[in-house]
Amino acid sequence: MSCAIDRKKLSRSGGDFIDEAHLHELLRRQTDPGEVRDVIAKSLAKRPLQPEEAAVLLATEAPDLIEQIFDAARQLKRDVYGNRIVLFAPLYIGNECTNDCQYCAFRRSNREQIRRTLSPEELRRQVVALEDRGHKRLIVVFGEHPRYDAAFMAECVRQIYSIKSGHGVIRRVNVNAAPLDHEGYKILKAVGIGTYQIFQETYHHETYAKVHPKGTLKSDYLWRLDGLARAMEGGCDDVGLGVLFGLYDWRFEVLGLVTHALHLQEHYHCGPHTISFPRLRPAQGVQLDESHLVGDHEFKRLVAILRLSVPYTGLILTAREPPEVRREVMEFGVSQIDAGSRIELGGYTEAGDAQSMEREQFQLGDIRPLDDVVRELMIDGFIPSFCTACYRLGRTGEHFMEFAIPGFIQNFCTPNALTTLMEYLVDYASPETRTAGEAAIRREVEKLTDGDRKQQLLDRLHRIAESNERDLYY
Ligand code: SF4
Repeated sequence: MSCAIDRKKLSRSGGDFIDEAHLHELLRRQTDPGEVRDVIAKSLAKRPLQPEEAAVLLATEAPDLIEQIFDAARQLKRDVYGNRIVLFAPLYIGNECTNDCQYCAFRRSNREQIRRTLSPEELRRQVVALEDRGHKRLIVVFGEHPRYDAAFMAECVRQIYSIKSGHGVIRRVNVNAAPLDHEGYKILKAVGIGTYQIFQETYHHETYAKVHPKGTLKSDYLWRLDGLARAMEGGCDDVGLGVLFGLYDWRFEVLGLVTHALHLQEHYHCGPHTISFPRLRPAQGVQLDESHLVGDHEFKRLVAILRLSVPYTGLILTAREPPEVRREVMEFGVSQIDAGSRIELGGYTEAGDAQSMEREQFQLGDIRPLDDVVRELMIDGFIPSFCTACYRLGRTGEHFMEFAIPGFIQNFCTPNALTTLMEYLVDYASPETRTAGEAAIRREVEKLTDGDRKQQLLDRLHRIAESNERDLYY
């Protein structure tokens, strides 16, 4: 398989916009408390930060200033996202891969990994299992392999949207897969995917070359870096960035993410829909280089600083992290989490209580059932949401920025979150979770301003609880 990538197929904004010398220089600068407070004030005004400003937050080590960064991230999270946490589940469809990424159990040189691609019938069974647990949003994951071209991925997405089980239905399918050319993205947009995610893994060129061996498709730094610009030009306007924290200096990677977000905003008038920040985890046959591993305190700082840097970009905290870390980090700006996740191929019908590393990409930190996570979120004062309204009403890409309109949360997000939560409570929740959920809904409705929207919401909640009506959203 030739690994020559056609440079003519790059996006119109194609080019390596990661200036390492500049980013390293920013991280060497000394900062003073006044600068830190000025940057925090800009964030709280919901204005995205420049790398120079994010570097000010990254450079400070003073405990009192770090506490101010944490407080500001909590505040901004409440101001922009309220107390909603959107829930989804990952669904691995195939782990064949031609790449040889040194941190991944799916790498081609790992002969111990059990290779599998779900058949249409196996895919149907996984989706029914997910629907019967109450999931409405999925992210489907593929290795990089000729078998998983755009047409194959599109057929999987089309099939997933067609599967129903009682009131069960998947209303949004996001994709995490290899970079495509423009035509590939058009094929996926045509079947109605949500977000297309591509993780750069590391923005540090030398580290990138070290962990992505020459001669593999993924060794092409620029083709990958340009991947989401091509996605936007191909019509996939909800895109997701990500870094695998632990490969290189976490401060540098945060600046890489901020630079990438601004690059998309500048060229496509729309920043990324989401940013993910997975930390390196044990994986079958992987010898972890521990020199850049990120500790829990630094992890909280990077989430808080990302929150302050990209106010309108969703932050995804995955089940890589153990429950106690997730619970603590959630308040610093996370807006989406997966729950009840199994990443073994066929895992939602075949996996037992223990994880089987020979069938998964890395080890998960949190495999608690969805019902336990939903209940814990509500105990912690969050509203679990399965909402997909914006995406289905075309409020995507730069149109998503309506989000910034004052009152958007009160009039759209919170009511939609509560109706999807009521669906979950009535159709899937354990009695314990239903009791906690009904109390949470009463608590949230009481906070809403009296008026037509509140009355409509109360009517919708009643109809969901007392009839077979479902999918009521604004
Ligand atoms: S990280 Fe992705 S591309 Fe790399 S080996 Fe694993 S599945 Fe393949």
